[in-house]
Amino acid sequence: MNRNCPICRRPRAELFTPFCSARCRDRDLARWFSDSYAVPGEPVRPEDIAPEE
Ligand SMILES: [Zn+2]
Repeated sequence: MNRNCPICRRPRAELFTPFCSARCRDRDLARWFSDSYAVPGEPVRPEDIAPEE
């Protein structure tokens, strides 16, 4: 069973299911973006894309 946030493994929040917070939800989005826009040379750090709210 996968009942925790897939990003940080903390218990998920109803509001952000399946994530625990907006931060993790944004990190997941950032991951998709980094797949779509493969930037050669520059590794994408999700922390830089998703500022803490
Ligand atoms: Zn999380």
